[in-house]
Amino acid sequence: LFRLDGLTKRFGGLVAVDDLSFEVDRGEIVGLIGPNGSGKSTVFNCTMGRYKVSDGSIHFDGSEITDYRTHEVVENGLSRVSQESNPITEMPVAANIKLFTLPNSVLAFRGGATDEEIYQYAARIDLEDKLEEMPDELPHADIRRLEIAKALATEPEMLLLDEPFAGMNQQEINDLVDKFEELREEGITMIVVDHNMGGLMKLADRIVVIHNGSKIAEGSPEEIAENEAVKRAYLGST
Ligand code: ATP
Ligand code: MG
Repeated sequence: LFRLDGLTKRFGGLVAVDDLSFEVDRGEIVGLIGPNGSGKSTVFNCTMGRYKVSDGSIHFDGSEITDYRTHEVVENGLSRVSQESNPITEMPVAANIKLFTLPNSVLAFRGGATDEEIYQYAARIDLEDKLEEMPDELPHADIRRLEIAKALATEPEMLLLDEPFAGMNQQEINDLVDKFEELREEGITMIVVDHNMGGLMKLADRIVVIHNGSKIAEGSPEEIAENEAVKRAYLGST
C-alpha cells in the first residue's frame, strides 16, 4: 500500500533522513522508532508534502506521491496526527473536527460533515461524550484523541501517527492500543511513530528502527527488543 524508496531529506548540510526504504502492506500496523532527532517526524513531513523531498520516492496506493502537495496527499487517503496538538481553543470539539472534514472535497461540497458524521468520527476514538466541550478544558489524553478524530474526519485509508502515546499513563496507552486495533479491523493501515517500543510491543506487526536518518533494523517487536544495534543506538539517548 505504501512504499519509501531511498527517501532522503537534507537541511543544508544535515541529512535528517538518509536513503530510507521500507514498505507497509494494507491492514498492517508498522512501528517507526528511533532516538530523539533520528528523523521520524521528517519522514511524515516528507510524506504529507510538508517538506520537499531531497531524493528518493514515496508511493501510496499505486501512485507516486513524492511531490504531491498536502491537500493532494490527504485526498489520496493519507492523514497524519502531528506530534504537537493544535486544536482551535475558541471552538468546541465538534467544530474542531468539522473543520477537518473540509479538505475532503465530497464533504466540503455539502459544507462539511453533518452532526451525525462528526459524532461517528468522534465515537471511533471514544470522544463522542466530549463534543460540546472546549479543547482547553480537556485532559491531555482527550486532546490527543481530538487530534486523532480530526485525522479520521478526512476518511483516510492510512494514518500516520506521530508519538500518539506521549504523555499518557499506562491505562490511557492500553485504551489507545485497543482503539488502534479496532481501527485496523475497520480497514485502516497505520504507521505509528514512538520514541521506544512502549505501546508498540503489543500493537505493531513490524518495527522499523532509524538512527541518524538511516534504517538500522527492521523486524517483529520481539526481534527488535533483542537487537544489539538497536540497543547501542539508544545508549546515551532517550
Ligand atoms: P523527536 O523524537 O525529537 O520527535 P524525530 O525523530 O522526529 O525526533 P525529526 O524532527 O525528524 O526527528 O528531526 C530530524 C533532524 O532534522 C533533527 O536534527 C532536526 O533538528 C532536523 N530538522 C527537522 N526539521 C527541520 C527543519 N524544518 N529545518 C532544519 N532542520 C530540521
Ligand atoms: Mg518527532
